[in-house]
Amino acid sequence: MKKALRHIVPVLLCLVAGAVAGSMQTESLAEWYPSLAKSPLTPPAIAFPVAWTLLYICMGLSLGRVLTDGDKRFVTLWFLQLAVNFLWSFFFFYLRCPLAGLADIVVLDLLVILYIRWVRRATPSAAWLFVPYLVWILFATYLNAYIVMENPREKSLSAAAVTENILSNTKNQSIMTHTLPQLPYAMEALSPKMSRETLEYHYGKHLQTYIDNLNRLIAGTPYAAMPLEEIVCKADGAIFNNAAQAWNHAFFFDTLTPAQQPMPEKLAAALAGEFGSVEAFKEAFTKSAVGLFGSGWVWLVGGPDGRLSILAEPNAGNPLARGLKPLLTVDVWEHAYYIDYRNRRADFVKNWWDLVDWQKVAGRL
Ligand code: MN
Repeated sequence: MKKALRHIVPVLLCLVAGAVAGSMQTESLAEWYPSLAKSPLTPPAIAFPVAWTLLYICMGLSLGRVLTDGDKRFVTLWFLQLAVNFLWSFFFFYLRCPLAGLADIVVLDLLVILYIRWVRRATPSAAWLFVPYLVWILFATYLNAYIVMENPREKSLSAAAVTENILSNTKNQSIMTHTLPQLPYAMEALSPKMSRETLEYHYGKHLQTYIDNLNRLIAGTPYAAMPLEEIVCKADGAIFNNAAQAWNHAFFFDTLTPAQQPMPEKLAAALAGEFGSVEAFKEAFTKSAVGLFGSGWVWLVGGPDGRLSILAEPNAGNPLARGLKPLLTVDVWEHAYYIDYRNRRADFVKNWWDLVDWQKVAGRL
């Protein structure tokens, strides 16, 4: 009975530690580190919880073996590796700092290798129970390193930024409802017409800030329970500004593609029917985009009568709030083009046409 307890208690301890570590992963990984999904070796998401559950059971049984008939000095080493394992989830999922996670998991690799080497003399079975775990964390080390290599922004996350992450996570964890949408292409895919650096700032920083502000502003208000579109239609002031900017940017980025296809017939026909020709539409839209004073968005919208029109909106303006159906938009805020085109908004709009995903626009008709 005592022997069984010596195995069961460590297994339960590991499963609890694993559940707490897993709870730090409150959002989809791919939203923070889009490059992870691209790693050639990333297993399907289901593999992670299944593998970890089995590994935690093996880990707990290994301690059980040591407690039953092993060298008790290694119990400390076992707890140390569990603590370092737990810290990895903290660095990676909670602080979202893959560089700190990588440093941590390398230490974990070393501790686990030491444990296997030392316990195998007195208790070979305790060592064998750790071998699948070692294989898995070496693989996790590869995945973590891949993310560090593919995300230069996260790689350079400073100590100050880590502190800021801790503070904002502590403040916002329970109210984070809106998250950064995933891009349907890689960060460098639109280059040179829209550079990786522009996306790192425009998508990674500007859009993220609107979303963070929105989450902060709606906390404790009726807006906290509403989907984004409803907030855009009902709110005003700062909540409207941040909600509409979050919606507009998600729509804008989603309508870009690195592999433009010819415009579908039904869209070309609809545009020609309203504006005379596709070229005439593009000309009118470009004129509106280049001519809009200050910051704003130019939209192609469908009216309640099904007719198409061009709508220039200053600031965070959004057609949903006017009961119109958005089909296409261009962001003419300076931050959308300043890195690649400096003050040349016309050049930005001219190149932006080559990135428009016409299939998506036609799908919204
Ligand atoms: Mn923008």
